Amino acid sequence: MKSAQIRYLSSQINRKTVSIIGSGPSGFYTAYHLLKKSPIPLDVTIWEKLPVPFGLSRYGVAPDHPEVKNCEETFTTCAEEYSIPTNKKHKLSFVGGVTVGKEVTLETLLNNQDAVVLSYGCTGDKKLNIPGEQGTKGVFSSREFVNWYNGHPDFAKDKRFTDFDWSRVSKVGIIGNGNVALDITRVLISNKIDEIWQNTDISPIALNLVKKAPVKNIKLIARRDFVHSRFTNKELRELWELERYGVRGCIDSKFFQKDMFDSFKSDRAFNRRVEMCSEYLKPFGERSKKNYKKAPPPTSGCNKFWELDYLKTPLEINQDESDVIKSLTLCNNQLKEDNSLKPLKDSNNILTYDMDLLITSLGYAGVPMPEFSKLSIRFDRDHVANKQGRVLTVAGEIFPHLYASGWIRKGSQGVIASTMQDAFEVGDRVIQDLSVSGVLSSEKSIGLSNIKHTTWADWERINKKELTRGQKEHKPRSKFLTLEELWHNVEEV
Ligand SMILES: Cc1cc2nc3c(=O)[nH]c(=O)nc-3n(C[C@H](O)[C@H](O)[C@H](O)COP(=O)(O)OP(=O)(O)OC[C@H]3O[C@@H](n4cnc5c(N)ncnc54)[C@H](O)[C@@H]3O)c2cc1C
Repeated sequence: MKSAQIRYLSSQINRKTVSIIGSGPSGFYTAYHLLKKSPIPLDVTIWEKLPVPFGLSRYGVAPDHPEVKNCEETFTTCAEEYSIPTNKKHKLSFVGGVTVGKEVTLETLLNNQDAVVLSYGCTGDKKLNIPGEQGTKGVFSSREFVNWYNGHPDFAKDKRFTDFDWSRVSKVGIIGNGNVALDITRVLISNKIDEIWQNTDISPIALNLVKKAPVKNIKLIARRDFVHSRFTNKELRELWELERYGVRGCIDSKFFQKDMFDSFKSDRAFNRRVEMCSEYLKPFGERSKKNYKKAPPPTSGCNKFWELDYLKTPLEINQDESDVIKSLTLCNNQLKEDNSLKPLKDSNNILTYDMDLLITSLGYAGVPMPEFSKLSIRFDRDHVANKQGRVLTVAGEIFPHLYASGWIRKGSQGVIASTMQDAFEVGDRVIQDLSVSGVLSSEKSIGLSNIKHTTWADWERINKKELTRGQKEHKPRSKFLTLEELWHNVEEV
């Protein structure tokens, strides 16, 4: 934590100033692109509400997928190259532990910077909006659950998780079947397999608690049919491959039979998905394709199941007398020719699943910043209204020198590669506009003397300590799990 004021004019170079709000992949890739491509000298500041950088790369991506976090190396190289005071053309500052909208207002940034980029991701939850969704113990959103197992300081010690009785969790429901739902299924169904989890940076608090759960069955429940499944083949295959540990997948034959999908023959990725499922649904010895026969299931058989369930709409979450989830009431859906859904709510089509844990995995929701209404910034449902990354006012005009990139620009969709592409495009717009605008703010600075914050050097100290702790435990890192611990470890010892 540094009390010294960040100085924006560290040398004789007259730089234009850009503030980026959020240090996830979109914020960092926007900064990276600006610094690599701008012909005009730039002073870029990344503002991050947590004391540590990288957003969902650190707190979203599954701990058993460390290769996905390779983007952090690019961000680190970029920060190291530009954050040390030099006479380089460009300069980059990381300001962590500062929420824009609280300690520093968006208006302050807009008044003091030549450009401001909103890259603050999607920080809310999409909801089912059914009775029992709020206030039932054992019902969590995917964002809450993922943050918890990834050691996010706002969730790692959350009592809703730590006080929950995991030892009674046998039947699990997950609403949604995107890749996040599959990540959660893997964590819940395979957590006792040390080969997968022991050497990851998953929060030990979460791992030890979910290990207590005797999970036998996980249903991934979707409103539409198999054709409309949201997961990708790679992630689905990972689940099927858990059969080597005694974890089997199933799909009811009314939702999946190979010949149901003949009209989709031209879609190669979909064909592979159909082939994969039909092969894995067969007993190991009866499979015709070699690449679905990698490792046989254990001889003692399989005792844990995940199941793809389709054409259902959740109607109500039912609690027991202690407010703990007991079951989920659903109805069957009919998918019409025009792809619209008709929930069938007559008594023949209502069903109840007993359930000890329910995760709603409907997607992360974009949330407007508190100042948007005062500043007349338009927010459309789940993202900041924008035209090619240039933010719009409520009147539909371009808001001067304000941009959006990443998930808050388009809603919570896309992987890190597409987020990067998006950030690069928005970076190009910023450069284009800065090239023609007059200098607005290069003599101004934003005083941080009274604001507790972390710098890049502080993050490097935290990082080093987490890596060292991790090394001792044979893990890539051992994260600090609370804000207090993070701030404490900023101090040099
Ligand atoms: C569970 C999960 C698993 C995923 N797995 C993969 C995967 O395996 N492979 C892959 O390619 N992609 C994966 N993704 C997608 C990937 O994480 C996103 O594409 C990417 O993180 C979006 O980047 P972003 O910068 O827009 O948002 P984020 O990563 O959410 O970053 C936003 C940042 O802004 C900060 N912030 C928020 N509000 C403020 C504020 N007011 N002031 C300052 N800072 C603020 C946040 O703390 C955060 O650090 C996954 C996503 C999720 C949710």
